[in-house]
Amino acid sequence: MIKFKQKGCKLNSRFLLIILTLTISFCAYAEDFFLYSKYIPYLSKKDPQIVKSFYFKANTNTNKKIIALTFDDGPSENGYTLVPVLKKYKVPATFFWIANRIPKYEINRYNSELFIIGVHTYSHLNYDKLTEKEILNDVEKALDIFHENNLNPKYFRPAYGIVNQGIVKALRKNHLKGILWSIDSMDWKYFENQQIIIQNVVNHLSPGSIILMHETRTKPETLEIIIKEITKQGYKIVPLTEILKYPSKYPNDVN
Ligand SMILES: [Zn+2]
Repeated sequence: MIKFKQKGCKLNSRFLLIILTLTISFCAYAEDFFLYSKYIPYLSKKDPQIVKSFYFKANTNTNKKIIALTFDDGPSENGYTLVPVLKKYKVPATFFWIANRIPKYEINRYNSELFIIGVHTYSHLNYDKLTEKEILNDVEKALDIFHENNLNPKYFRPAYGIVNQGIVKALRKNHLKGILWSIDSMDWKYFENQQIIIQNVVNHLSPGSIILMHETRTKPETLEIIIKEITKQGYKIVPLTEILKYPSKYPNDVN
């Protein structure tokens, strides 16, 4: 009888240990990457070699509390209102611009040593629907516009976070580095509820994170709250170049 009880107890504790380990690993995983629910399955279906040609997050040690802010889809009227907030708090940021928008906006409003400008395609096409040749043409057409405007970008973010062989080749040919993200603010979905955008960012911070926002979707007061909260949690917002000094970390499902 006693033996049986002990055995049951052993089994129970082993079971509890497994549950505990699974819970801890899930929590660690959830904290480490906050990519929207459809993105992980998308990435996990891709060839890991292709995924690993892109950069997601700095693989820093846990006490190196640095993060980078990135804003897609500009330039834009709303972007003009974010620039003064970033300057006020001396916060570095990277803007990934859609090339065909550049001639329509006053890009000199973004002039600051705090900012890096990257490429976000020519007109926001889905590169999974283009041939390798079409992707290369689109990337180079985008670069022409950047160069005409005295911009010499080194970083590229595909629209929708698409990754494929054609993009890898086009980026390599044009000496561009593909940058994705590890935290999605989901401002593209929750423009009407800026509180959710704040929670999505500040509840998922971890050292080395790259935060995805859209300069067309985040309001300046939201950005201000996010900056204050990031700082309050002991993180330093650094330029993307600082993050890139570390090797990239990848979502667990991709390994
Ligand atoms: Zn975009």
